Amino acid sequence: MSSIGENLTAEVAVIGGGPAGLFSAIALKAAGVDAVLVAPPADNDHRTTALLASSVTALTTLGCWEACRPHAAALVTLRIVDDTRRLLRAPEVAFTAAEIGLDAFGFNIENRHLIAALSARAAEIKLSRIEQTALTITSDPLGVTAVCNGGTARARLVIGADGQRSLCRTAAGISTNRHAYPQTALTLNLAHIRPHHDTATEFHTEIGPFTLVPLPGQRSSLVCVLDPAHATTLASTPAAELSAEIERRAHSLLGKMSVEPGYGVFPLAVETAQSFARSRIALVGEAAHVVPPIGAQGLNLGLRDAATLAELVADARRQNVDIGSPTVLARYDAERRADVTSHRIAIDLLNRSLLTDFLPVHGMRGLSLYLVDHVGPLRRALMREGVNPTASQPRLMRGEML
Ligand SMILES: Cc1cc2nc3c(=O)[nH]c(=O)nc-3n(C[C@H](O)[C@H](O)[C@H](O)COP(=O)(O)OP(=O)(O)OC[C@H]3O[C@@H](n4cnc5c(N)ncnc54)[C@H](O)[C@@H]3O)c2cc1C
Repeated sequence: MSSIGENLTAEVAVIGGGPAGLFSAIALKAAGVDAVLVAPPADNDHRTTALLASSVTALTTLGCWEACRPHAAALVTLRIVDDTRRLLRAPEVAFTAAEIGLDAFGFNIENRHLIAALSARAAEIKLSRIEQTALTITSDPLGVTAVCNGGTARARLVIGADGQRSLCRTAAGISTNRHAYPQTALTLNLAHIRPHHDTATEFHTEIGPFTLVPLPGQRSSLVCVLDPAHATTLASTPAAELSAEIERRAHSLLGKMSVEPGYGVFPLAVETAQSFARSRIALVGEAAHVVPPIGAQGLNLGLRDAATLAELVADARRQNVDIGSPTVLARYDAERRADVTSHRIAIDLLNRSLLTDFLPVHGMRGLSLYLVDHVGPLRRALMREGVNPTASQPRLMRGEML
């Protein structure tokens, strides 16, 4: 690994060392592309990510999953419970992975373990890294220069994996469409005395979902969507009191609960970049799109961005095409748009259907869940689409190297 004081030239510079950036850089390096990662060490992230089966396949293909597996819990059953007190309530629905021939829909892992596993793999394959924040990004007709404190990286293509407030996105002159919801997610991990039986449970409440997702052993992660003031109050409640409150909201499903230190508070918004690539800069992960944590789609979309882009870069390179050319960037934008848009619309609709007081909408939500519960082919199609979306199956997600 390289560090401060170096001027590196590479084919691709990846900016940002969150999961999307690390995954991008590893995928490129594994495809024989000369890549440099510009990223300070990642912050301690106590959130967890439910990785769908196709993401796990891609991580396995890149040699990253073995180190994740001991820290990951299988998601075998997904249950949705209408916990609203409304007149028209939806039936309880449970999906099992075996119905679509899988052992698990995916795995839930703490982000700190995922990032540690990806960082270890990056070191193992000797990925060049400048462990600094990029201060400026400037593109010109021949390439892009990222300047850090005491070092620069010059590349023909920059991958902006630098999160929601992306410097790369600004440097490319790309604006976003953003809508903020009147909701905040409180996240924490907790221990409980009853086993979760590899089942994730999403309670739908009037203000948003309250979702418990298994972690290894008798532990789970919680994403509790609340109104912002309530989230702030709960986040400063003493641990014993908070544990009792969470247990009450979970209807004692997993027995007595004990919250662990390290809560997170995330205001919910949906934000999409108007273009995913321009001026030799391509965006992946939350630099490109942010969705509320409903249905565990955010990073799964981000990994599909990274896998698609790495595939296009590897193919362009084999054909001696400029990897930062407008043709390659336009193709990337086109290939990702449908997948991102369809998930954003589905998540937004579900979230709005919980927030509205309009009775017919509750009826529609209840009817949809009823149909999903009772109509076998629809149910299985929905499950398959959730785990392996047909619109986007980059090669890494199918277990093929680039
Ligand atoms: C409560 C919650 C629960 C979630 N649960 C799930 C889930 O179950 N499943 C799922 O798929 N998704 C989930 N998500 C979404 C998921 O967490 C995000 O999609 C994911 O973390 C985004 O990863 P990223 O690498 O794009 O961005 P980030 O994790 O934000 O990483 C960006 C990185 O870039 C670095 N950086 C920023 N600026 C610069 C710069 N100038 N130079 C160098 N580096 C820079 C930052 O330090 C950071 O390390 C959840 C989100 C929330 C809020």
